[in-house]
Amino acid sequence: MRLILLGPPGAGKGTQSERLVKTYGIPQLSTGDMLRAAVKAGTPVGLKAKAVMDAGGLVSDEIVIGIIKDRIKEADAAKGFILDGFPRTVAQAEALDTLLKAENMNLDAIVELKVDEKALLARIENRARETVAAGGTVRADDNPESFKIRLDAYREQTAPVSAYYAGQGRLKTVDGMAPIDDVTKALDKALG
Ligand code: AMP
Repeated sequence: MRLILLGPPGAGKGTQSERLVKTYGIPQLSTGDMLRAAVKAGTPVGLKAKAVMDAGGLVSDEIVIGIIKDRIKEADAAKGFILDGFPRTVAQAEALDTLLKAENMNLDAIVELKVDEKALLARIENRARETVAAGGTVRADDNPESFKIRLDAYREQTAPVSAYYAGQGRLKTVDGMAPIDDVTKALDKALG
């Protein structure tokens, strides 16, 4: 099973991916997680990406395509994967098509979690509160200023990715405003 989860920041892609990982036994490939790990490790990619990530902007296509290109070839991704947070631009979606073709891989599903934008900031603030309560460190971009820029980036650069797949008749949508368990059920149905 190879699938893409699309949706704005706070849509629940991470939460649902964690569940799909268990159900399907395939890894979640989150470019955001990989970039945060690179920032933490102080790698050249991390050093380049940090400021733009903290501000809520998008890291260059070149960097994220390079990351995904290597990641999908790793052994744990042989049976499939869930792409979470990638592709985020039409150029990334096109590059992904080329990469998959070269590896003789197909996408089984592209699913967008549809959410009411008005609910998103509250969800992000809730994630920050839960992180603090669990003794963790809040993401540098989980604040209202960066969130506004992340949402603008989504509207301008990532919403066209949904249109790209919809235009090819490949996009499925799931109501991401429903309770978490119901979203999981709807996703299972969409993937089944
Ligand atoms: P996320 O964890 O998916 O919300 O991603 C956090 C941040 O990492 C984003 O706001 C971007 O700065 C960066 N990022 C993650 N994935 C991508 C991507 N596919 N293209 C560009 N930037 C990305």
